[in-house]
Amino acid sequence: MKRTFIALVAAAILSSSAAVVAQPVDYSKLDIEITDLGNGVHLLGWQGGDSLILIGDDGVLLVDTSVAQMGDKIRAAVAKVSNKPIELVINTHAHADHFGANEAMAKGGAVIVAHANLRERMAKGQTIAAFNQTIPPSPPAALPTITYADSMALHFGGDTVQLFHVPNAHTDSDTLVHFKRANVIHASGTFGGDGSYPFFDTSSGGSLAGTIAAQEKMLSLADANTRIVPDEGEPGSTAVLRACHDALVEIRTRVQKLIDEGKSEDEAVAAKPTKDFDARWVRPGGFLSGDTYTRMAYQSLKSGSAPAAR
Ligand SMILES: [Zn+2]
Repeated sequence: MKRTFIALVAAAILSSSAAVVAQPVDYSKLDIEITDLGNGVHLLGWQGGDSLILIGDDGVLLVDTSVAQMGDKIRAAVAKVSNKPIELVINTHAHADHFGANEAMAKGGAVIVAHANLRERMAKGQTIAAFNQTIPPSPPAALPTITYADSMALHFGGDTVQLFHVPNAHTDSDTLVHFKRANVIHASGTFGGDGSYPFFDTSSGGSLAGTIAAQEKMLSLADANTRIVPDEGEPGSTAVLRACHDALVEIRTRVQKLIDEGKSEDEAVAAKPTKDFDARWVRPGGFLSGDTYTRMAYQSLKSGSAPAAR
């Protein structure tokens, strides 16, 4: 999820009044930065739903296709490290910056794999209630043709690529992608990297509790050297993921206590339950302030961890 999108949602969480108008992004000005993570895995960073690729002998596996406007740049970036076609695509979750260029990749011959909920959300279209945005149904050619429910293993390019669904985390369609040989995990949107709270989109079935559970799943897979790829930005270490997890657990405890005491959302915000974590986890210039995060946590915990209505 891009920062612009997060800004809109954050603004809407703070003020549920008028619909917020999206700031256009000039994709022609965005460059893709390629980072070699070893064992054939490369990060394609573009300040949005960052992609990973795994280079195989006969083709390339691509995690997340980016927005439609970036599709050609993703292809060009892949071509810099391999002359093989993009054979297989995994979409980590149903936000448009992760599946937007699916149709172009499918027309180029790629097979698309995702959690069943992602296909359903793409096919039906979605309303992101937090800022009153409607995403139209995707064309059939853009939809994943292989879906799974709980977990799946792909054997590609000499690596075992393990997919795990984590329910109601960043969304209700998240896939964690674990490259076992390369010791890299794509966190979908369940980790914000070093210095950023992870956003959870309750209108897409996300929740605080599910985000914490997703982080626990990643911690169970990781060792001290694992690189964990966030929604955007530099991969984080297992130690950073653990620190983020521990902060979220404490924030959940504090906000739940305020709810149990009968505090209103505004009273909970006034109590500043994230105060001692904000210096580490509020990104300077970002939009997920401690107060916004408290509102998100309050709303998520108040409604239980059940997903929002689709
Ligand atoms: Zn997202």
